[in-house]
This record gives sequence, C-alpha cells and structure tokens, in this order.
Amino acid sequence: MTKLSINSDRLWNSIHESAQFGDSGNGGICRLALDEHDKAVRDWFRASCEQEGCDVFIDELGSMFAVRKGRNASEPYVGIGSHLDTQPTGGRFDGILGVCAGLEVIRAFNDARIETDRSICVVNWTNEEGSRFQPGMMASGVFAGSRSLDETLASLDRSGVSVAEALERINYRGRVAVGSIPLGCFLELHIEQGPYLEAEGVVIGVVEGAYGLSWYNGRITGTSAHAGATPMTLRRDAFAGLCDLALGLERIACRIGTSAVATIGEVTIASQSRNTIPGDVSFTIDARIKDAETTSILEAALSSVITDIKHRRGVEISLENVLSKPAARFDTELVDLAAASAELKGYSSRRMLSGGGHDACHLSSIIPTAMIFVPCRDGISHNEVEFAEKDHCLAGASVLLQMVTTLAGT
Ligand SMILES: [Zn+2]
Repeated sequence: MTKLSINSDRLWNSIHESAQFGDSGNGGICRLALDEHDKAVRDWFRASCEQEGCDVFIDELGSMFAVRKGRNASEPYVGIGSHLDTQPTGGRFDGILGVCAGLEVIRAFNDARIETDRSICVVNWTNEEGSRFQPGMMASGVFAGSRSLDETLASLDRSGVSVAEALERINYRGRVAVGSIPLGCFLELHIEQGPYLEAEGVVIGVVEGAYGLSWYNGRITGTSAHAGATPMTLRRDAFAGLCDLALGLERIACRIGTSAVATIGEVTIASQSRNTIPGDVSFTIDARIKDAETTSILEAALSSVITDIKHRRGVEISLENVLSKPAARFDTELVDLAAASAELKGYSSRRMLSGGGHDACHLSSIIPTAMIFVPCRDGISHNEVEFAEKDHCLAGASVLLQMVTTLAGT
C-alpha cells in the first residue's frame, strides 16, 4: 500500500497545469475573478476533484467546496484551500498553491486508501484578489457573515457587469446558500508574499494572525498663490506640508519597527498648475498594524507631527479614519498544531504575522483557523515573476497533510 505522503511532482504539475488558464505569456497569469479563464480553471478543478471521488458543491457566490466524505459524514468538515483568481499581472503561486495542495492532500489519502473520520473539504473561494470586483476576500467575507450577500451580488466591475451577472455568464451561480457548508475549521497554505522566511532560511511560517488595516483620508489646506511673486517665507504650501507629513509618517513607522507599515498611496493636488503654489491637497494613508495598542501609538505620533506642521506652515490638516479592520488572531491550538507538524516533518519554522489579508482572516472570526506560509523568491508576489521552490511547496503541503491527518482522524 502507498504510504500517506505528498507527491511532489504531482503537486508541482497541478500548479503548472492550472497556469495554462489565463497564461500571460510572460510566466504569469491574468485570471480575474469570474472571467473566462477563471471559468476554465474552475472546470479543471471540479473535474480533478470529481476524478478523486469528491462531491463538488457550488454556493451562491460561486465558491467551490470539494468534499471527500469521512466515516462520520455528519461531523463538520476539515476545510482547507485558498483561491484560484489572480491579479491582472499575477503569478503562479498566490492562492493557487493552497488550492492545489488541498487537491494533493485528497489524492494522498486516496493513494494510501485511508478513510478519515471527518470529511475533508477543499475550498476555492471566489474573488480573493478584489481586482475586478471590490472588495477582495469577497466570498469568504459573506461566508463569515461580515458582508451582505445582496450587496456583494450587486457589486460592479469597471464595465458595469455585476457579480451576479458574471456568475450567470460562466455558469457558477450555485444553489448552495453561502455559509451553509459545515466547515468545522479552516487551514490555508499560502506563499509568504514577504521577505522574512527566505532571508532567514526558514521553510515554514507558522502564521499566528494578520495585521489590522486602517485607512485614512486626509486633506491639507493652505493658500494658492503665484509661484513667481510669492516669497518662500510667506507661503502656505499644502503640498510641502504633505511632504513633511509623508516623511513624518515614514519615521514613525520605522521607529515602531516590524509592528507597523504605513503608505501614502494616493495624492491629489486640486486645480493643479505649474505656476501656482498648491493650496489644497488630498491624500490617503494605508496602515497595517499589529495590534490595537500599536495603532494608538501610531495615531498619537501622527497627531503630534500634524500639530507641528500646522504650526510651522500655517496650513490646516484634517485626517479621517474611514476603515478599521482589527488584526486577526488565529486559533492557538491550530497554530500550535502547525508548529508541531512542521517539527514532526523535520522542517524549520518560525512564528509570524501576515502583512496581507487572506480568506483565512474572515474564517477566523467564525471557526478555528490557521495558516501556513512558505517562502517566495525575493518576497515578491502580485507579479509575473512570483516564484516558490518546488521543495518549499512540498514542505508546505506536507505540513498541511500532517495537520489534516490529525484533525480529520484516521
Ligand atoms: Zn492570495
């Protein structure tokens, strides 16, 4: 009988087989949620799971649930998976690794002819990336009850097509009510999308949770004036004030260390003109922060920077918090199980937080959840050059298999 283990070549092949759907021709993938390529990869995933004897259920938002029945079919399922949609210039691993590893876990149990107590369910969540329809992590958000189904179905892409229409077009508007698939827990294997594992030569990231997200909209008001006739000392330059603020924000985040990152990603100078001093500048701040305490530290430091700029430059500054997502904390028992499984398999590991959001973050609000990270080259993702080593994919999938074996019971 075949020993229960991940077949590294087969896992690698499924990752690359799925990459033909939406192949960009430059080594990457453009497979936006619910487009024709997303349909093709979904059809491939469904056929692959059915070939392994799974029943595949599709919910009203098109999320796919491939169930390998256990002895106790009425017990909640052990959920594993991620997403198959990509960014417009996405890579071959982001999300895809987690779904293909889920399929490989099923194949490993089938090869070894092992029946589990609890059913195993491999999930492909609809629209994790949020590049065609907003927001990202859409279907897992509705599954977890943090978004409404109707509002989500009505969300439009840039050409005015709704999620509901897009689902109909590719024939993936399922009948199963969102949230009704009985997941008892959820595990997501994902590439790190950051530099730490590679830099430290560590193979497995045991993810304890994800950073919180705060969005702010800001505005600086000074005085528009003639760029030639106004002496430097008499200016109330809103853009120069923003420059001070951007550098101040950078200093604050650097001082806080690895617990926070902050970005000014959008800047608009109102009525811009080459020969006019900017009098009105709007901007956004995106801050990812480890915990509520660090958020208070960052906000207090930012507020004193703002007071200083107002005083020195004579400008008005307003800053409004428009979105706050608290940091996600994963289930301590599952996190410990991930660490123990990595050790059992002989892989180095370190505990860490995720800088990016994942479907697992939503799931963690309703069921015990954990994530496993593996390194990706130069920490790069959302890019066609995104790459994870074959051995690292094997390592991540092997830790996943070990966890599933413990949780599903054999
Ligand atoms: Zn992802």
